[in-house]
Amino acid sequence: MVKETKFYDALGVASNASDAELKKAYRKAALKYHPDKNPTPEAAEKFKEISHAYEILSDDQKRDIYDQYGEEGLSGQGGAGMNADDIFSQFFGGGFGGQPQRPTRGKDIKHSISCSLEDLYKGKTTKLALNKTILCRECEGRGGAVGKVQECPDCHGSGMKFVTRQMGPMIQRFQTVCDKCQGKGDLCHEKDRCTVCKGKKTENERKILQVHVDPGMKDGQRIVFSGEGDQEPGITPGDVIFIIDEKPNAEFQRKGNDLFKEYEVDLLTALAGGEIAFKHISGDWIKININPGEVVSPGEVKLVEGKGMPIYRQSGYGNLILKFSVKFPPTHFADEDKLKQLNSILPPRQEVFIPEDAEVDDCDMVKYDPAKHQQRRRHDAYDSDDEEGRGGNPGVQCASQ
Ligand SMILES: [Zn+2]
Ligand SMILES: [Zn+2]
Repeated sequence: MVKETKFYDALGVASNASDAELKKAYRKAALKYHPDKNPTPEAAEKFKEISHAYEILSDDQKRDIYDQYGEEGLSGQGGAGMNADDIFSQFFGGGFGGQPQRPTRGKDIKHSISCSLEDLYKGKTTKLALNKTILCRECEGRGGAVGKVQECPDCHGSGMKFVTRQMGPMIQRFQTVCDKCQGKGDLCHEKDRCTVCKGKKTENERKILQVHVDPGMKDGQRIVFSGEGDQEPGITPGDVIFIIDEKPNAEFQRKGNDLFKEYEVDLLTALAGGEIAFKHISGDWIKININPGEVVSPGEVKLVEGKGMPIYRQSGYGNLILKFSVKFPPTHFADEDKLKQLNSILPPRQEVFIPEDAEVDDCDMVKYDPAKHQQRRRHDAYDSDDEEGRGGNPGVQCASQ
């Protein structure tokens, strides 16, 4: 049984409230009655009351005394106690919304690293120079002599603080550079400042990083140098991250671990077999036999096993996929005799089918020439010349000129 419950009542909690319940109750009440939020005299009084109640009850020793002897028992404890704002600041780590916080981890630094398909096939090592901030080596990031640099009491080292200003009925609250320390976050006599970094705590360094691009790496893949980002006092440096940027290749397309290539084979090889050859990404030449009678049709797709890209951090390779087109001989390549020979060599002509009751139009055809034959709406000669002159937008038509 407690002697009295005044402080518990102030916070609206039971006398057996846990620390967590006390905290919660104080937070809620403090935010409600803080003079910034509630500038009435009643609120100010209430704010003092709850702050004092919380100060006592959050301290195990004082709470024990209070529970046993009541408020009277505390009067002999000495000290004026903390003022309400101090309790509030301590609890919230500053004003409303907390003290401006410095990030605890530095930013990652990202660089893209351009790689040809050949680079990603064989792997490569690139040396890259990185300009970064490191802790001053002279003062080890303290900014001055040992023990001579004090954390700024106004901003608690953050260099920033919140300021509230009343504008009519509105309370405006904004973050500003701490004026006591000029944003440095600490205080130090001029004579004790580090002469190398002038109290800045950091210096610049140019560092060479060796970036290993492993065989089989892919576009967008990341190479991470953990903790190589900029150093700053009190924060964990971020990472330096290189991101693979795969350049397109004129001859091969990559899909995952497979390589795709289009190959134009001549008609005779396509029909009667022969050899095809081309340079591979590896630098070697690939030679493939097409067996007589195998017949490669236009658009046919074939696969060469194990001639794709290396598989990242595994042994083995993807596949090479070839899509064929067939190069036909030029028009009039053969005289009548040769064509007659073809008649006897090639499979017979496909029979033409026309329904018996159809009306038949006999037509001629010529070679199609887009420049000559493209359908165009011709209002008059002037308009069409004008459109052609712009050479650009076939879909766009002038409404009027
Ligand atoms: Zn220094
Ligand atoms: Zn400060």
